[in-house]
Amino acid sequence: MNWKGVPREEIEWAPTIASDKCTGCGMCVTSCGKNVFDFDKENRKAIVARPKDCMVGCTSCSVWCVFDAITFPDPKYVKDLIKKRGVLVFAKKQLEERLKNEERL
Ligand code: SF4
Ligand code: SF4
Repeated sequence: MNWKGVPREEIEWAPTIASDKCTGCGMCVTSCGKNVFDFDKENRKAIVARPKDCMVGCTSCSVWCVFDAITFPDPKYVKDLIKKRGVLVFAKKQLEERLKNEERL
């Protein structure tokens, strides 16, 4: 799996849950479109089960968590990654392909 040409396993982007703050409300478990979380039924808390499935740069679940239990690395990490790993070149190619495909329709 890679993200815009960068191997996903090399990218340190995933949520961290402070379990003492997690009330088990289920917002993150039921809302993440990437199915990153599982629910620990015994302890009634969310767990980060599939961290590498998290969309690079997304922080939505930290916004949804009204108990402020979810944190992320500094977004600057992603900005630096984009600058240093050729992500803009990759994105430009993707954009050009998309525009060509749209013209064919
Ligand atoms: S949204 Fe926050 S409080 Fe609710 S289950 Fe997820 S981490 Fe726990
Ligand atoms: S940041 Fe986005 S993709 Fe990642 S776990 Fe949270 S909601 Fe899912």
